[in-house]
Amino acid sequence: METLITERRLSLENSTEGPSEDPYSRDTYTVRINGVDHSLIMGLITRYLVDGVYPQLDYQSDYVPYDEDHIISCWESEVGMSHDTFIKAYHRVHGQPSKCSSCGGRKLTYSSGYAGEAIAGCSSCHKLVWCEPVTKAMIE
Ligand SMILES: [Zn+2]
Repeated sequence: METLITERRLSLENSTEGPSEDPYSRDTYTVRINGVDHSLIMGLITRYLVDGVYPQLDYQSDYVPYDEDHIISCWESEVGMSHDTFIKAYHRVHGQPSKCSSCGGRKLTYSSGYAGEAIAGCSSCHKLVWCEPVTKAMIE
């Protein structure tokens, strides 16, 4: 039976993990569906958490080899959208530019800059189109 989705909200948080002298960028992509947070965390390793705990998925067994693509595809099938779609939808909702101000190119590449900062570059002229620190306040 299909579950009726009455709530779906995207949030993106940039943070760091690992040793403080050598921090590693971490992006947490969360889709809240009907009050349950499905988080894809991409940092030192990629993992998928449901409300902060590892879900019991049918692929899991006593020994699970680390397979990033599989973890991402499990998250994608649970939240009903691809990782790329999440990024596009998130940036559209949050008022970030959809085209390059220099050449008008519409193909932008979003990525994380330094910890806590998101940047967008133009795929045509390679100019930095947009740059803004992402804070928790922005996504709530
Ligand atoms: Zn451009």
